[in-house]
Amino acid sequence: MISSRDLSDLVKSLALRANFELPSDVRSRLEGALQEERCSLAKAALSDIVANFKMAEEDRLPICQDCGLAVVFVDWGQEAVLEGASLQEAVDLGIREAYAEGYLRKSVVYDPIYDRRNSMDNTPAVVHLTMVPGDRVEVVVAPKGMGSENMSRIGMLKPADGEAGVIDFIVSTVSQAGPNPCPPVVVGAAVGGNFEQAALGAKRALLRPMGQRNRDPRYARLEEECLHRINRLGIGAGGYGGVITALDVRIEQLPTHIAGMPVAVNLCCHALRHAKGVI
Ligand code: SF4
Repeated sequence: MISSRDLSDLVKSLALRANFELPSDVRSRLEGALQEERCSLAKAALSDIVANFKMAEEDRLPICQDCGLAVVFVDWGQEAVLEGASLQEAVDLGIREAYAEGYLRKSVVYDPIYDRRNSMDNTPAVVHLTMVPGDRVEVVVAPKGMGSENMSRIGMLKPADGEAGVIDFIVSTVSQAGPNPCPPVVVGAAVGGNFEQAALGAKRALLRPMGQRNRDPRYARLEEECLHRINRLGIGAGGYGGVITALDVRIEQLPTHIAGMPVAVNLCCHALRHAKGVI
């Protein structure tokens, strides 16, 4: 039995941690990028990025003013029972408390076209529930800024577009985004599935540890090829040029229909925020 209050407390602590502390693999990759970059302007941007995340952690300040939509992945062990509030209510309570206590920017509007009235507490969260074996509940809170989300794309490619079409779509997404997603970016991509599965797969790919390649060597090679081409675009950190436009590219593959090959690309800025906990 898991009380909804315990779940809210976990979500709250993860939302605060995610907004204040970059995961260690992201920090290490950014510090490595700072060493690798030779373009002086881009190096200065990377230096600011590194100083910023260190300051955020020390002073318990948000890594970025855009504290994002609260994206919450819940892997729910099917033997566990939630007692009290509903899952959405429990998650929203944790987000509400975290965004108030941490003085995090509230960025959610109820209606997307007309009044665009702010919900004032950053809820509702975007909750992705997966039922898994066991009795544990794993939660990942991944605040996602809209600067990079706005530059993300989905394309309903044809099977005949093949590997070359996938590479072109991923690389051109980053190229067209230019400096808008606050590079250096991390590229999460998914090939296959249907329209909505591809988009979710691309977002999940952003949670993979930095530098971890796809277990299928063909997709691992595809990731390396995309990373190489993206880093030759010359966009660079902050859009100032140089050789580090992307920190990493992750590509997930999904079973799909005989007549299709969807490709989704979810871009994330250098503030690749996420924190994981378990009940
Ligand atoms: S894209 Fe990322 S770094 Fe840029 S404003 Fe949005 S959250 Fe902040």
